[in-house]
Amino acid sequence: MRLTVLSGPSGVGKGTVVAAVRRRHPEVWVSVSVTTRAPRPGETDGVEYHFVDAEEFARMVKLGEFVEHAMFAGHAYGTPRRPLVERLATGVPCLLEIELLGARQVRSAMPDARFVFLVPPTFDELTRRLTTRGTEPPEVIARRLDRARIELAAETEFDHVVVNDEVGGAADRLVALMID
Ligand code: 5GP
Repeated sequence: MRLTVLSGPSGVGKGTVVAAVRRRHPEVWVSVSVTTRAPRPGETDGVEYHFVDAEEFARMVKLGEFVEHAMFAGHAYGTPRRPLVERLATGVPCLLEIELLGARQVRSAMPDARFVFLVPPTFDELTRRLTTRGTEPPEVIARRLDRARIELAAETEFDHVVVNDEVGGAADRLVALMID
């Protein structure tokens, strides 16, 4: 089983670290999640996410097409089962970048996976990142900070912790854990 699950609080930079993994480590396969949230500027359907509407998401849930799925800040997110199972069968190291509730579902379904928690250098740094991203309205940022506080407490559930002090270094340390 060469599956690694990367989780961590909102705004810690999971997406940025995963983008660095894609650039620096093409040997790693990164799952593309399905979401009902709208694309942010610069995001392309099928690259960062598969963007679908709520009805399509519900249909996929009903058909059992997700390994895990969860709501986050008012939108649904899920990991498609088929591509993941196919890649795992080939022995390629696979990476999921998901929030905490989804990570717990994967732990129940696939207990042999590795679980890595990405943390900010400090909580102040996390607040600063969430506030300056500039892509979400204040009430969305507030909701994400509330959730981040709860999520930070979950660190002890994970096998490894990676500090996101510098993106490239964090990506390299994550991949070192994956292929260890
Ligand atoms: P964002 O909207 O900022 O891209 O992602 C919001 C949160 O959803 C992040 O914590 C991200 O890790 C998480 N996420 C992305 N894809 C999935 C998924 O397939 N399942 C779950 N449970 N969470 C996801």
